[in-house]
Amino acid sequence: MKNKRIIALIFALICFFVLLGVLLWSIFREPENNTVETGSSSQTQEQPQKTDENQSPENTDTEEPSDSKEDDKKEDTVTSAGQNDDPAPTEDQPSSPEKLNPNPTTKEEIKAVLNDPFMILINRDHKVSSDYVGDDLVTYSGAYKLNSTCAAALRKLINAGQKAGYSYTLYSGYRSYSSQYNKYYNKIAYWEGQGYSNEEAVRLTNEYYAPPGASEHHTGLAADVCIPEIVNKYACLHENYDQTEEFKWFSAHAHEYGFILRYRKGDEDITGYNYEPWHYRYVGVEVATEIYNRDITFEEYIQDLENRLAALE
Ligand SMILES: [Zn+2]
Repeated sequence: MKNKRIIALIFALICFFVLLGVLLWSIFREPENNTVETGSSSQTQEQPQKTDENQSPENTDTEEPSDSKEDDKKEDTVTSAGQNDDPAPTEDQPSSPEKLNPNPTTKEEIKAVLNDPFMILINRDHKVSSDYVGDDLVTYSGAYKLNSTCAAALRKLINAGQKAGYSYTLYSGYRSYSSQYNKYYNKIAYWEGQGYSNEEAVRLTNEYYAPPGASEHHTGLAADVCIPEIVNKYACLHENYDQTEEFKWFSAHAHEYGFILRYRKGDEDITGYNYEPWHYRYVGVEVATEIYNRDITFEEYIQDLENRLAALE
C-alpha cells in the first residue's frame, strides 16, 4: 500500500514537471511565432468592390484586378475596431526605408535615399519596363496585393482610422504591367468605338489612365483607399471623396504611417495625373512626414535631392 502511494507520488511529480516544461516551452517560443504573420491575408476589413467606371471618369490610373469581380458580394468592412482580428504588424519590416534621413545633406545620405527601393519614382516620364514586378508582394485582401511593408503600414493606418470612427476600403493595390496594358489599350479602343480618331482616343485615354509602365501600382507601394459609403453609392474613385470626413482624417494622418497623397489638386502639371484623393503612396514614415511638412509632391522631393547631389559633385 505504502509502495503504491510512493509510486503514485512519483508519477504525479513526473507529470507536474512535464507539464511545467511544456508550459515554459510554449511561453518561451510565443514571441517568435507572432512575427511571421505580417502581410498575410487574414485581415477582415477591406474587400474589393466592383464599380461602374463609366459613372466616374475620374477613375484615372486605377483599375480593379481582373478577378476582383468574384468578390463583389463579400461583406465589405468591419465598422468596429473590436471586430478586427488582424495580427499586429511587426515593427521591424525588412528593407524598411524608415531609417533614411529624409532631409539628407551629405552625398552618402542623399544617395541612400535616392537608391532606396521604396523611393522609386514612377510617372509618365519614368516608366518601368514590361518585365518589372513589384518586390515582396503579399495578398492584402480579396484579389488585391501590396508590398508587404506597405500592407503592414496600411493596416495600421486603417486600424487607427477605425479607432477614430472611420471605415476604409482598399480599392486597388498592385497591378501588373500586362493588366495596365490591357486597360489602357482597351480604353483607346473604347473611344475609337465612340467615333473618335486614334489621336483623339489616345488623348482622352491619357486624361485618366496611365500608360503601361507609368503606373505606381506596378510597385505594390500604391493603394487606392476609399470608403464603403462612396463605394456603395457611386463609383468608388470620385473627386467628391475629398468632401468626406473620412478623407479629411485619412489625408491628415497618412504620413504618420508612411503614406503620401500622391496626386494632389493643383499639382497636375508636376505629377502628370489628375487629382486623386484616393491614391496613396508608401514611402516610409520619415520621408512621408518630410514631404507632408514641406507640402510638396514626390516629384519635387526627388528633384530636390538630385539637385542637392549635383551641387555636391
Ligand atoms: Zn491609384
